[in-house]
This record gives sequence, structure tokens and C-alpha cells, in this order.
Amino acid sequence: PPALDARELYRFYRAGEEETLALRGVSVTVAPGELVAVVGPSGSGKSTLLACLAGLDEPEGGVVRVAGERISHRPEAERARVRARRIGILLQTQNLIAHLDVAQNIRLARTAAGRRTVGGPSVRALLDQVGLLDRARSLPRELAGGELARAGLAVALANDPDVLLADEPTGELDGSTEQRVLDLLRARGRDGRRGVLLVTHSTAVVRGADRVLTLRDGRIGP
Ligand code: ADP
Ligand code: ADP
Repeated sequence: PPALDARELYRFYRAGEEETLALRGVSVTVAPGELVAVVGPSGSGKSTLLACLAGLDEPEGGVVRVAGERISHRPEAERARVRARRIGILLQTQNLIAHLDVAQNIRLARTAAGRRTVGGPSVRALLDQVGLLDRARSLPRELAGGELARAGLAVALANDPDVLLADEPTGELDGSTEQRVLDLLRARGRDGRRGVLLVTHSTAVVRGADRVLTLRDGRIGP
């Protein structure tokens, strides 16, 4: 099955008389091994789409499947279970806990995913993958911007997800650091098993993507 498959998603926001159609029949597929970039102007529905794909929000219509397993239109506890086992999430808000060091943050994410004894990459392997072996004992506030981004990535990858969903993963990084994070994201697909979908404004990331989707007014357009 695709790493991620979303069919005909509709999401309406109602506030009193006002109704906003944030998603108007959006379909997105990420094949195993693929890195898909989503671009679009502010207000086009990018955040809403990510939230629906991650099972953090429920679309009014359509269906979302991750590695063949449905995450939409299920009770919150079941969505949380699918999310923990199959999805890595990297949002703009920091996903690191301030008073835990990098290794502890990764360990916590593995525990939260229910991997108490076996399964998933080790903390050491994750640190090595993002080039932070020497920063295991550092607190988030002690890290430079690029290190912080890579620590967040290690946390998002802690449960070896079928699909990684990311919002501006290279948002505040300089060119060479951005390239490094992009290389890490592209490496996810190399075994042809896992996918990455990210929202970005970066032309470097767009160039590095296998496919680019443009969101406009809640629709995928040309
Ligand atoms: P949103 O998720 O609502 O698009 P963002 O935080 O991505 O909000 O961006 C806030 C504003 O800044 C938006 O108007 C967006 O289009 C603009 N913006 C963000 N990053 C860039 C960028 N790299 N280049 C141009 N405009 C950007
Ligand atoms: P983007 O991330 O591309 O900026 P959003 O998904 O944040 O787009 O927003 C899509 C549309 O939905 C916008 O018109 C926005 O104003 C509206 N919207 C987003 N969240 C809410 C909400 N909680 N309540 C009402 N309208 C919302």
C-alpha cells in the first residue's frame, strides 16, 4: 500500500454564520520511498491538511490511510494508536521538552510510541543518524538552530514511522544546514519503504522533492 493515501478530503470550519471551506476534495498519495512537497499561499489549507493527515483533526469527508491502515473517522484513542505506530510528526512548534536532554527526549518519544523493550531504532542509532552523538547530554537551549532542527527530527523518527509529516522542517535554517536536513529526509525513502510529506516555502526543498503539490483555496491545483 502507499505510505500515505488521502482521498477526497473535505474540512469545513463554522464560526457563527461564517463557513470556511478549508479543504475542498483534496487527494494526496505518497508512495513508499517518495518525498512529496506541498506548497501554497497562506490560508490555502496546508496546516489543516497536515492535521487531517496526522489524525489530529477529523475531515468531514474523505478517508486517510497510513500504510493501508485507516486513521480518519475513528475514535480518538484509535487515531492516537495509529499515529504513534505509523506517523512521525514534525510541526513548527518545538517537539522537544526543555528540561530533558536530547537523548532523554528521544527515549521519551520511543516510550510514548509503546516501544518499551524492542523495536524501532535505538536512541544511539537515532542520534547517529542525525549527527548528534556528541550532543546526547545537551539540553535544547544549549543547541544551535541546525542542531535543534535535527534533534526534533530524531524525535519525530523515534518510532520508525511509515510516513513522516513535516511543517516547514527547514524553516529557519541557513543553506548548508537546510541541505543536511533535506538529505536526512531524502534518506528516509532510500529503502523504498517509507514516505515523507512536508509543507514548505523553501525552493531548495521543492527542488529536492520527488513531487510537488500546490494547494490553492483548499484544492490541489496545477
Ligand atoms: P501559513 O502556515 O499560514 O502559511 P507561515 O508561518 O507559513 O503561515 O507564514 C506566515 C506568512 O509568511 C505567510 O504569509 C507566508 O506566505 C509567509 N512566508 C513564510 N515563509 C515564507 C518564505 N520562505 N517566503 C515567502 N513567504 C513566506
Ligand atoms: P495555511 O496553513 O495554508 O495557512 P490553514 O489550514 O491554516 O491554511 O487555513 C485554511 C483556511 O481555514 C483559512 O481560510 C483559515 O482562515 C481557515 N481556518 C483555519 N483554522 C481555522 C479554525 N480553527 N477556525 C476557522 N477557520 C479556520
